[in-house]
Amino acid sequence: MKSYPKVTINLKELRENAKAVTEKCSKAGIDVAGVVKMAWGDPEVCRAIAASGVKQLASSRIKQLERAKAAGVTLPLMLIRIPMISEADSVVKTADISLQSDISVLRAFDEAAGRIGKKHKVVLMAELGDLREGIWSREELMDMALEVENKMPNLELAGVGTNLGCYGSILSTPEKMQDLVDISHAVEEKIGRSLEIVSGGGTRSYARVLDGNMPAGINHLRIGCQMLMAKELNEIWGHDNSDMNTEIFNLEAEIVELRDKPTHPFGEIGVDAFRNLPVYEDRGVRRRALLAVGKADYGQDTDCVMPRDKGVEYIGSSSDHTIVDIQDADREYKVGDILKFNLGYAAALSALASEDITVEYIDEQ
Ligand SMILES: *Cc1c(COP(=O)(O)O)cnc(C)c1O
Repeated sequence: MKSYPKVTINLKELRENAKAVTEKCSKAGIDVAGVVKMAWGDPEVCRAIAASGVKQLASSRIKQLERAKAAGVTLPLMLIRIPMISEADSVVKTADISLQSDISVLRAFDEAAGRIGKKHKVVLMAELGDLREGIWSREELMDMALEVENKMPNLELAGVGTNLGCYGSILSTPEKMQDLVDISHAVEEKIGRSLEIVSGGGTRSYARVLDGNMPAGINHLRIGCQMLMAKELNEIWGHDNSDMNTEIFNLEAEIVELRDKPTHPFGEIGVDAFRNLPVYEDRGVRRRALLAVGKADYGQDTDCVMPRDKGVEYIGSSSDHTIVDIQDADREYKVGDILKFNLGYAAALSALASEDITVEYIDEQ
């Protein structure tokens, strides 16, 4: 389809990544929930991940799980953002399982599940130091587990979980994972039966699987990044990702102006469109291309927008325009040509939410 700006998604590479992750986890006795929130529940992305051996499909927003269901995904669906009381009815209707951390939400969910006569599974989130969602006091967590188990007939206490590395940058060390295992044992003792799910986190915790030092007892992870991007563990800790596809999401944008221009703005310098005062390096007059795509499409994190053509350099952008230096490019460009960029997580997240972006799927069986 000739409509720009466009995001291309390589489904074959995505399936390969998702398979690689689920197979490695499976060998370590770990089930995987495939997290599709970066792709906004894109139907093809959901289907590709659902076909890779994941146990559940997961997302942070109920609308995205509704999209997955509409796309024909029959796997259990998991909501991974702590739910709002106001969405209890739609969550129990669409999702089979949710992450929880508040007793009043759980009570609302028990009632909502009762109204439609459908049992809803819950995973209680333990706070292990990252300070986003989770129950900090062990006593409170035990009381909550007991109330769900004994007083909420429409909920099933499926397990416990935790999240690390999102707000507090806390590492998923073997010790933190062991803390969660200990909590799971304490809950099991309280309720007198074993739990189905001990969910150790996302991609950051998957590092423990790669390193072979995940404590026994963690039997579930919720993984997005490592399937969709597979860059993070390599960039942060140097984990080998040579068997993974790292350029699945790419942006294509059209050149609307092509000129030799000075590299330093002329006139009195004030602030830019976003009220920043940038520093401009004077490199003389250089050949530049102006593209019809901007921060309104791919967001503020422009480090996540990486030109793919050799010698092309990202220079700057405003809401609707992007400027690249093409002086040292290997090829000649003309107005109307298309330039490609690889997208990092934040940029892909924004771009796939933009109404003006066309999505094109690349697939070879
Ligand atoms: C986003 C998210 C995940 C997945 O994290 P990745 O880094 O993409 O693997 C897992 N759990 C929760 C609660 C999340 O919000």
